[in-house]
Parts: sequence; C-alpha cells; structure tokens
Amino acid sequence: MAVAGAIRPSTVGIAGGVFLEKVKPEYCAEGFEPVPDGNGGCIVCDHAATETRNAVAASCSEKGYTGDTVCATCGKVLLGGEDVPMADHVYSWIVEKEPSAVQSGLRVEVCERCGNRGVAVEIPATGASESEVPESSEPDTLTDPTPHPIEAPSPEPKRSSVAPLTGDANAAAFGLGCVLLAGVCLLAGKLAVLRRRMHYSQSSE
Ligand SMILES: [Zn+2]
Ligand SMILES: [Zn+2]
Repeated sequence: MAVAGAIRPSTVGIAGGVFLEKVKPEYCAEGFEPVPDGNGGCIVCDHAATETRNAVAASCSEKGYTGDTVCATCGKVLLGGEDVPMADHVYSWIVEKEPSAVQSGLRVEVCERCGNRGVAVEIPATGASESEVPESSEPDTLTDPTPHPIEAPSPEPKRSSVAPLTGDANAAAFGLGCVLLAGVCLLAGKLAVLRRRMHYSQSSE
C-alpha cells in the first residue's frame, strides 16, 4: 500500500490542477507554481496560455493602455501594460454657416471622433462686391412680410465656367498632340534624308 506521508517532493511534481488547499511550491513540477484562488485553495499553473486584458484604445480625448498580460488559466497578471499617449484629432472641414449675398459664412474644423472644434475660417459673403446693399433690404430689418418675388442673384458661375474649361482643355490637348505629331514627322523626314545621304556617300566611294 502506498503511504502518502512517504512521498517526497522530488518524486511528486504536480503539473496543473485545482486544489482546495494550499500546495507547496516544491511539490509542483518544473515550471508550475501554486496560485491562490482567493478561497483558501489554489491553482497549480504553468501560465502557458496568456491573454491581454484591460486594454484601452487611445482616443483624442483619453490616453490608452496596452493591457495586462494575464494567464488565461489562473488569472495571474504576468506582465503589466503601458500607457498609450492620446491620439491626435482627426479634423475635417464643415461648413457651419453658408454665406449669403450680404452675410459671411463660417467654415470650422471638427474632429470626426470627438467633435472637438479646431480652426474656424470665415467665408466671405458671395454678393458683397456686386452691389452695395442698402440697410433697408437686409432680411433682419425687413418689416414688409410680403415675399420678395426677386431673390438675390444666386452666384452660380461654376457651371458656366466649368463647361468651356473642359472644352479648352480638350482643344489644348489636341493642339499639343498635333504639335507633337508634326515634330515626330519632321524628325522622321530628317532621318530619312540623313540615311539617304549616308547611303549615297557610301555607294559613291
Ligand atoms: Zn496561470
Ligand atoms: Zn478628437
């Protein structure tokens, strides 16, 4: 019959398992250690499987954390993580207020992640240069409730200017092509003449 008391540490070697009592480290196999489970018992573990816990992604409003390397079996924190510096704002321009003929608008940098406002740039009024508008025609001071049949001239020079622009570009490209082609033809002609001359001089000798 085997006698438990006769077992010596060198012949044991506990390689894993959950125990209701504490286990002395010298009874554990090489690479294993007893980790208290908080209830008086322990887990004999070699921490072979690890996972990252408590990781926090850095944002532009809070710093992050790489996370702790924790044993997936017993939960012991094997390696602490590090802080990650705060990320930069990701700004994009937003037209907050469209400009009118008489009033300037506003363009603002707004962070896509947290909504932080960056630089604000004024957009000049669209029709200010055309006509000096008297104070009475300002919408704020208008007392006449009847709707105006004639609206302020909408500044739409984009469409009219875009169409001829592409035409010009095409014409320019065509012209350039012609010049290049002419150049190539000229070169080819000169080469032919040169060859003929060479041929002539060779045969005359
Ligand atoms: Zn473990
Ligand atoms: Zn942000």
